[in-house]
Amino acid sequence: MTKTSSSVWEECLSFIQDNIKPQAYKTWFEPIKPVKLSGEALTIQVPSKFFYEWLEEHYIKLLRVALVKQLGEDAKLIYDVRMENNYSSNNQHTVKIPSSNRNPINPQGISFPMDVNKRELKNPFIIPGIQKVKIESQLNPNYNFENFIEGDSNRLARSASMAVSNKPGGTSFNPLLIYGGVGLGKTHLAHAIGVEIKDKYPDKIVLYISSEKFTQQYIDSVKGNSRNDFIHFYQMIDVLLIDDVQFLSGKTGTQDVFFHIFNHLHQNGKQVILTSDKAPVDMQDIEQRLLSRFKWGLSAELQAPDYETRVSILQNQLYRDGVEMPFEIIEYIAKNIKSNVRELEGVLISLIAQASFNRKEFTLALTKQIVDKFVKNTKREVSIEYIQKIVSNYFELDVATLQSKTRKRHIVQARQLAMYFAKRMTKASLASIGSQIGKRDHATVLHACKTVDNLTETDKQFRKYVDDITKKLTF
Ligand code: ADP
Ligand code: MG
Repeated sequence: MTKTSSSVWEECLSFIQDNIKPQAYKTWFEPIKPVKLSGEALTIQVPSKFFYEWLEEHYIKLLRVALVKQLGEDAKLIYDVRMENNYSSNNQHTVKIPSSNRNPINPQGISFPMDVNKRELKNPFIIPGIQKVKIESQLNPNYNFENFIEGDSNRLARSASMAVSNKPGGTSFNPLLIYGGVGLGKTHLAHAIGVEIKDKYPDKIVLYISSEKFTQQYIDSVKGNSRNDFIHFYQMIDVLLIDDVQFLSGKTGTQDVFFHIFNHLHQNGKQVILTSDKAPVDMQDIEQRLLSRFKWGLSAELQAPDYETRVSILQNQLYRDGVEMPFEIIEYIAKNIKSNVRELEGVLISLIAQASFNRKEFTLALTKQIVDKFVKNTKREVSIEYIQKIVSNYFELDVATLQSKTRKRHIVQARQLAMYFAKRMTKASLASIGSQIGKRDHATVLHACKTVDNLTETDKQFRKYVDDITKKLTF
């Protein structure tokens, strides 16, 4: 007998009925109607969004067991939600939402080689237990491979990430370095690797950490005289994911300690995954020996997604949110927001919010308005203050030093660059720029702009400064 949505659902119901209280069954399962079966995916219709959320929160495990019995391990559940307050003016329409089907990631129990009771452990991820110490993986299960859309721009990085997830420590991609600009999915991919490994190898100790946090922990460990504990802690990890390693630039102490941790992990066949906003060749103020380690494995770039990929990302996001939108609107967003997936999602969220708060339909006019605002907003952010912040950050100075009277060469250069960018990217007059950047006069600003122009043509290193800062300011 061939399976139909009704036959499958009936079997599920009889299993569910045996496992919950009659009242709950009546309330939450009787109103559900099976509507479609395609392959391993069963679509059920539920009366409201609230209903759907309730099922996901309270009965997802039960539903999953029931469904797997009927349709096998790959069973999927799709909700067809009757919307009460929908975005369009039609009275009834439905949205489709895939079941998240993901369990939260459990804390990982391992035996700790140190005497936990004697010393206070500085690592905030350790939850002291009686015999075992638990390490929170810090992973976000919402960043996974299923919702990371593949495209030409990310194919290499994505498949290398999958390979590493299948065989952590067992491929030549060790370390795996994922690099690329802001909002292109580095953090997402890093989590996806961790989440996948926890799925496949629940016993492996996985830890995701940003390099800023890592640096802070290291500094605290030095202050607290527990540098060795810090090192030991990290040497126990099976899969270490460090996000945004460009922040280690200039931090020699942290680089040094990371070098030792890295060597230990690598020698013991443990997997290291790094992300960075630049390729290893372009990283500055990172020790040579560490850079050469970064290059041992594979460096894979994430590029800005092409048009087709942008459309897929938008469509996938809408599908997950259970929202339907005319294609011309998706097209318009994908054509106008190009360089950054985070912005792509930002526009979508604003649009959905605007439409639902004001009970408006999704129209091209509303979309244009939002896209415009988005594009303008990112431009408006460039103030002289912001420029000084970015330039100071880039050279690891504070803004006060940049504005000070000092004649130290590298500080003078930074100051001149700030003036140059202020002239180039704002409408402010030379005098106004001068007064905002350390109370200088307009002639100083003019001189700075000329100097930067000259140096950009003659000095390769300097040109790189200008390019790097331009990138930072325009994102
Ligand atoms: P980065 O760390 O490179 O700055 P993120 O990983 O934080 O970027 O990504 C920004 C947003 O874009 C996240 O919400 C992420 O889920 C989303 N995103 C990026 N690339 C993709 C992709 N290929 N498919 C789906 N979502 C993506
Ligand atoms: Mg990131």
